[in-house]
Amino acid sequence: MCAMFLSGLHSFMKTSISQKLFFKAQQLIPGGVNSPVRAFKSVGREPLFIAKARGSKLWDEDGNEFIDYVGSWGPMILGHAHPKVLDAIRKAMVDGTSFGAATRREVEMAELITNIIPSIEMVRMVNSGTEATMSAVRLARAYTGKQKIIKFEGCYHGHADSFLIKAGSGAMTLGVPDSPGVTQSVGNDTLIAQFNDIHSVENLISENHDHIAGLIVEPIVGNMGCIPPQNNFLHRLRDLCSKNNIIFILDEVMTGFRVALGGAQELYGVQPDLTTLGKIIGGGLPVGAYGGKKELMKMIAPSGPVYQAGTLSGNPLAMAAGLTTLSILRSDRKKIYRQLEKYAIQLERGIAAIIKKHNLPLTHNRVGSMFTLFFTQQTVVDYVSAKSSDTRQFARFFNGMLERGMYLPPSQFEAAFLSIAHTEAQMDATLNAAEEILTTIFN
Ligand SMILES: *Cc1c(COP(=O)(O)O)cnc(C)c1O
Repeated sequence: MCAMFLSGLHSFMKTSISQKLFFKAQQLIPGGVNSPVRAFKSVGREPLFIAKARGSKLWDEDGNEFIDYVGSWGPMILGHAHPKVLDAIRKAMVDGTSFGAATRREVEMAELITNIIPSIEMVRMVNSGTEATMSAVRLARAYTGKQKIIKFEGCYHGHADSFLIKAGSGAMTLGVPDSPGVTQSVGNDTLIAQFNDIHSVENLISENHDHIAGLIVEPIVGNMGCIPPQNNFLHRLRDLCSKNNIIFILDEVMTGFRVALGGAQELYGVQPDLTTLGKIIGGGLPVGAYGGKKELMKMIAPSGPVYQAGTLSGNPLAMAAGLTTLSILRSDRKKIYRQLEKYAIQLERGIAAIIKKHNLPLTHNRVGSMFTLFFTQQTVVDYVSAKSSDTRQFARFFNGMLERGMYLPPSQFEAAFLSIAHTEAQMDATLNAAEEILTTIFN
């Protein structure tokens, strides 16, 4: 498998320790991993086992060093092992790791989030993005007294049953858009529209009049690779939801604190009813959150009847890491988001120049510091155009880059990320490697 993808490129990388670990892991863990995309299946190789990370770099168990463009799938916007985040975790740790009781940091976190994202008047902390989206949809159903939800083909909102219908991310490359184990009745309550196609949403609304509780969308899709909204798509969704008494949920688990401090809603100036958060909000620890209008959030237990709970929710270590990460982002916001933009533009222009110079059939999508190089000539605006990518060519590109020390997301349908620890020199090195590999692939 590997040899096929690597043809024309020499492999110098030692992987014997990762291989041994993977062999053992496969006996003990389904597929040897605790989350599917980590298995590197869609790029035709075995996963690397990561031993250590610092700043913009990763080291695997065999001692290979990489420039990291995954950033734990988004959270590590400050770079790995940021000294202030580690200090905050250490400080929290010595006072005990969990009490299952109310703590000061939870109040500080809620205050910080509601300050940064004005559409969030009240917020509940959970332990993952999956929990956040699942709870937000339950709340939308409870508030409206309606049952159905609208999601978009190829958008990923975690692995709760309602969302595993035409989902993106790992569900896209694994070819299980509809997971076994999800019941037909759950499937019936999830309606699928096309991203960037407002008519597909209008049609669903008119066909299911008075039955749609909520609409959930990734404001900038990350889970089909990076796909920006076009033609005022988000504002038009907002209008449709308002007119039809549908709760408008922006899933900002990936985009929150990433494309701007206040997320995609700040970048595009759009106001959701509910927002879901995750990834960066935990600073590398397992955290999610959902929040929005008081009128809605007051329905959550114990202030209201909609049940949602968590033994470890608001965990002191997780709050310490998240609070510190968000505080740094907020206090240095101008400098941080300007720098991320600058390096992302350097990469984007470099790739554009390579595409032009060698006349390559590629499309580069980017918003802020999230981006994807699609192996298709089509403009990528939705699921169908994303799927026109040549995933075998992507796999060769991925493997070639990995051999040269660039750790990209191991799937065509995932966004890559920058952190503030990345450097101009790393962008140059990455572009040089990319040109070499792309010209090999298309020769
Ligand atoms: C990652 C992601 C989720 C799921 O978050 P987990 O913490 O992995 O459960 C939900 N929505 C979006 C947009 C995501 O990118």
